[in-house]
Amino acid sequence: MTASSYIGRFAPTPSGHLHFGSLVAALASYLDARANNGLWLMRMEDLDPPREEPGAQAAILDALERYGFEWDGERVRQSERHEAYAEVLNRLFNQGLAYACTCSRKQLEPYHGIYPGLCRNAGHGQVDAAIRLRVPELEYHFTDRVQGQFRQHLGRDVGDFVIQRRDGLYAYQLAVVLDDAWQGVTDIVRGADLLDSTPRQLYLQELLGLPQPRYLHVPLITQPDGNKLGKSYRSPPLDSDQATPLLLRALRALGQQPGDELHHASPRELLDWGIRHWDARQIPRVLTLDEAQLH
Ligand code: GLU
Ligand code: ZN
Repeated sequence: MTASSYIGRFAPTPSGHLHFGSLVAALASYLDARANNGLWLMRMEDLDPPREEPGAQAAILDALERYGFEWDGERVRQSERHEAYAEVLNRLFNQGLAYACTCSRKQLEPYHGIYPGLCRNAGHGQVDAAIRLRVPELEYHFTDRVQGQFRQHLGRDVGDFVIQRRDGLYAYQLAVVLDDAWQGVTDIVRGADLLDSTPRQLYLQELLGLPQPRYLHVPLITQPDGNKLGKSYRSPPLDSDQATPLLLRALRALGQQPGDELHHASPRELLDWGIRHWDARQIPRVLTLDEAQLH
């Protein structure tokens, strides 16, 4: 493979510091890119200033550097991409593919997150309204490199979804699709919490005539009972003193098998070992807290 035939990326949200789960996702996307002689891009997903933690952007980049990661080119910030999002949003709106929704949170409460289409034909203006994309009554599916076949019926399981919030902020679903295409990303490697966003993204790609990247969703770390990791379990911000043991643990969480001789390796040496030995087929589909902490 040549450099341009694989382009990967890491796309952290600066709502907090990196924790162990984000290290696992960063490591998988980095190793997969480098093992394929690919580029690895850095995109700061700073779409939501009210939820941004001050200093988090710098802290994330600093932690990644201390853990030995090197990205290609300048890091991109979504806060600098609003014009591109607005252009596509207006096009979708003017074509009638998206519409304005003035429903209140309270009004939507009974529908458990699946929008029932109340404003579909209301013809509201864009001002002081959320913008929703009409979804087709169709199932979208794809084959994930780790999770296998994933399918979702957009009409039934998702409903018309928000691409711009009422407060004017652009939604992740829109921005991620536009930016991945704009940056030429061929391979998306990220956490499995985004598996069920992927069909929405496939629909947007199709609608906008954008290429569909390959997907690899790394396992989420779950509690031994299979439930999502609660806040109290969540690991603290990554400590730079712990780079070697945490990288070793992250490699093992990804099914790779670094030997004992690496216990005193530097972060950079561990990443180089990871690139040379990377085998994405060893990544488990699920991972419990016990397994993640075993070593
Ligand atoms: N910004 C998202 C997150 O931190 C990741 C988006 C993506 O990889 O598509 O969870
Ligand atoms: Zn509505």
